Amino acid sequence: MKIAVIGAGSAGLAALRHSTLDIYKNEVICYERTDQVGGTWVYREESGVDQYGLPIHTSMYKSLRTNLPKELMGFPDYPLPDAPESFIHRTEILDFLNSYCDHFKLRQYIRFLHNVELVKLVDKNHKWSIRVKDLQKNIVTVEMFDAVMVCNGHFSNPNIPEIKGQDIFKGQQMHSHDYRVPEVFKDKTVVVFGAGPSGFDLVLEIAKTAKKIFFSHHIHGTTSIAFPDNIIQKPDVEELTEHSVLFKDGSNELVDAIFYCTGYKYGFSFLDETCGVHVDSNMVTPLWKHVVSIENPTLALIGLLTHVCAFNMWDLQVRFVLQFWSGKKNFPSKEEMLKDQNEELRNLTIKGTPKNHFHVLNDKQDSYQKDLARIADIQTLPPVIMSLYDECFAQFFDNLIEYRNTKYKLIDDHHFVKLV
Ligand code: FAD
Repeated sequence: MKIAVIGAGSAGLAALRHSTLDIYKNEVICYERTDQVGGTWVYREESGVDQYGLPIHTSMYKSLRTNLPKELMGFPDYPLPDAPESFIHRTEILDFLNSYCDHFKLRQYIRFLHNVELVKLVDKNHKWSIRVKDLQKNIVTVEMFDAVMVCNGHFSNPNIPEIKGQDIFKGQQMHSHDYRVPEVFKDKTVVVFGAGPSGFDLVLEIAKTAKKIFFSHHIHGTTSIAFPDNIIQKPDVEELTEHSVLFKDGSNELVDAIFYCTGYKYGFSFLDETCGVHVDSNMVTPLWKHVVSIENPTLALIGLLTHVCAFNMWDLQVRFVLQFWSGKKNFPSKEEMLKDQNEELRNLTIKGTPKNHFHVLNDKQDSYQKDLARIADIQTLPPVIMSLYDECFAQFFDNLIEYRNTKYKLIDDHHFVKLV
């Protein structure tokens, strides 16, 4: 098969590592719009657009340390090296992704500074055309493929909620995608919106320089966290005026800046409608097992899931897809795949889960990965990955301020120890 991989972040590298294996005899080309591998782990001081007028992809900030221990952040056949700490600096993850790329000799397949502009299905035998721009030469070409793995990442297109009065507010407004260093909020009174992983991390980080922070969220049970004195928890915002914020509890505060830690929007602007993939509030359908396009199974979307052990999971998704593309397994019928997806959607609806949580796995991670491995006859992820993930998830909420000081060590496929 001739396979296109779009993006050379962790998902694209996993796609390359397996699809280029000799046993498959595939021809593989990876298009990467930046000049490096690593995707979101490639820190850039600037925000906005790059020299080619494309949006800066990375959402990393300068001081970022991982929110999962490195013991969970390797690939199944390529773990992170030993280190004094488990929660490591972003630079170590980028080094690791480069070393993975070199170890498996993947760089030869990557066309850097090539931006995929359009992916289109051109005939019923699932031949794909990809229009790509060589950014350096400013030349657009079209190339044909038998199959496409989309690995474009989902943390770069900021989601900014609409708030009454947003357009008249005279202070600074920033999304976490553009945040790099805490000095931007030095001596300011800031409202932080959103209590996802970034919201919690960033509220603590900017508290070191900001004068006062109003942390606005609607998560229950966080009030027990011993925040520094300059962080005041607030409910959702009702409205903004030129210089102040009115909260839903009726309180009104003068503020200098609004900091949106409100997540990201999934987007596939380069997928033509012939691809048969739709996005509605970050819910991507119709997909079999969150990865295979049901309309056109030679299109796979790697890396949509969140709250998972990302690199391990991408590796598993790639291995899953290749079992079918290589003919070792046959895809179920379109009806069966749709039935499977719709059952999952129905369960979510019954539980009242919002659409934007469709790809959030968390405690469903173990059954999901076992399902993929069983269906495709491939190796599961080691059980210790799941048990350590559960431990870390609990730690995050129980011990938000200190949890990164814990050091873990994997003993074998089933056991880990907590060293500090
Ligand atoms: P990305 O890393 O985003 O890579 C996508 C690549 O596709 C990029 O290189 C991009 O340039 C390229 N691309 C996009 N569109 C095109 C196009 N049209 N043409 C060509 N190339 C294109 N995960 C963890 O496991 N632990 C953590 O501690 C953690 N911390 C995080 C902190 C932050 C601030 C963020 C934003 C994410 C964090 N994550 C963390 C999640 C992280 O996104 C995943 O770990 C993982 O890196 C995602 O990999 P990816 O390959 O799917 O996407």
